[in-house]
Amino acid sequence: MKDNKTILAIMAHPDDIEFLCGGTLALLAKKGYHIHMAHVAAGDCGTLEYSSDDIARIRFEEARRAAAVIGAKHYCCGARDGLVLYDRPTLRTVIELVRRVNPFLVFTNSPVCYMVDHEMTSQLVRMATFIGGAPNLQTLITPPARPTGGVPYLYYADAIDMKDHFGRPIQAGFYVDITPAIKTKERMVKCHASQRNWMRSHHKVDEYILNMRRWGTTNGQHCGVKFAEGFRQHLGHAYPQDNKLAEILDVIPA
Ligand SMILES: [Zn+2]
Repeated sequence: MKDNKTILAIMAHPDDIEFLCGGTLALLAKKGYHIHMAHVAAGDCGTLEYSSDDIARIRFEEARRAAAVIGAKHYCCGARDGLVLYDRPTLRTVIELVRRVNPFLVFTNSPVCYMVDHEMTSQLVRMATFIGGAPNLQTLITPPARPTGGVPYLYYADAIDMKDHFGRPIQAGFYVDITPAIKTKERMVKCHASQRNWMRSHHKVDEYILNMRRWGTTNGQHCGVKFAEGFRQHLGHAYPQDNKLAEILDVIPA
């Protein structure tokens, strides 16, 4: 699909995007790309003190503020934590979002990850990017968005802790040097105060931010820079085969 300057990052929960590709999105925003950030679930299990609706409201606002740091638009698809299903209603919602945004390039969760919500999101986004251009697939949402003009570039972010269900490492296909954007990424991550504060009181250190930096430096060590984010490109049938991200940003092969 042709570069229309529009990029969508869609992952399972509020804060997944900021942790897994916030630095890359910050670099892309700086290059003039229009960034859209969506979480499929509301983040409503990320608390021990608030009700489901209260924490969903709090986390929606946190994610909105994080997106605003890089001037991105923000959406929630309305699923609940632990209940992200590959079912008709959720798939229709994700297809409708992909059609409305009409991105030429999409980021999502790793197809293999520690949490099923992440894996379901990965599959939902994979199908939505593939089928979004088919007019006969109706989302039943009115008024419906127009079908997309083609299959966008699709990239998977790292699995959490960069390992599969059996502890085997999942290696990135390539890395983006996010060293120049690490401060912006940190500002985005810090918007998720409800998660950061909970972790800080539990671990007695700022584990939320330390974790973010640790992932960045681990990836950085793999490719010889200070901080990096890792990605793999979906190269199945019908998807673009060239690495567009490598044209836009300086990427480092794994
Ligand atoms: Zn998550």
